[in-house]
Amino acid sequence: MAPQVSFVGAGPGATDLITIRGARLLRHADVVIFAGSLVDRELVRRYAVKADVYDSAAMTLTEVITVIMDAVHDGKELVRLHTGDPAIYGAIQEQMDALDRLGIEYQVIPGVTSAFAAAAALKQELTLPEVSQTVIFTRIEGRTPVPEREKLSEIARIGATMVIYLSAGMVENVVEQLLCGAYTLETSAAVVCKASWEDEQIIRCTLSDLAEKVRKAGIDRQALIIVGDVLAARREGLKARSLLYDEDFSHGFRAGIA
Ligand code: SAH
Repeated sequence: MAPQVSFVGAGPGATDLITIRGARLLRHADVVIFAGSLVDRELVRRYAVKADVYDSAAMTLTEVITVIMDAVHDGKELVRLHTGDPAIYGAIQEQMDALDRLGIEYQVIPGVTSAFAAAAALKQELTLPEVSQTVIFTRIEGRTPVPEREKLSEIARIGATMVIYLSAGMVENVVEQLLCGAYTLETSAAVVCKASWEDEQIIRCTLSDLAEKVRKAGIDRQALIIVGDVLAARREGLKARSLLYDEDFSHGFRAGIA
């Protein structure tokens, strides 16, 4: 039997970017706890028409767990909705930990994290041969501390493609720290605000004008900063194509010509 409790990734915003499984669970849910964000509110309105709805924004962890416990006790189906994918800055571990202790079973349904909605908005591959084969999801330190070895200035040394969550409000600081690493003022960057929403906003820039453009556009939340040389490929042309479709390259599904 499927667990009564499901953590569901809501996706980045557009109501049809939730998974089919997530939408089905919302439709069947008797109780929904959502994070109070615009994304979730819209999805709840559309799919969870019959559910009792709780906004977790004003709730403590204990209150959230109590609602879950009560629902399980009453034989109800409950969805705990999280924007994007619940595994990225979702604060789900502490909830799962509490449920483990109580012996309450649950499942997790993934969602499209905003990084991928932003890449789609930019029509940008984040991993390009000979440019970068690594993507780092990170954030700048805010009220939530970041481990010393993961400070933006430290990981900026790698020079990989970086997707920076939760940081648009501290953009000057972001730029300053990125410049301590492998990036320069000429490094390409982009900001996507409200990726996949109707009022999605895209800024293409370099590190030299990133902060100014973000401030001018009045963006400070619901935005991702993407940095790295992959973003220059559209402007400068590709350095190399993927081997996957190269006619001389053999792989498990196709023999190359050479
Ligand atoms: N679990 C979410 C992230 C939650 S943290 C996910 O997987 O996307 C909240 C941060 O996510 C915001 O500060 C912003 O950086 C980013 N974010 C969420 N939705 C977004 C969207 N539609 N467009 C751009 N950034 C978004």
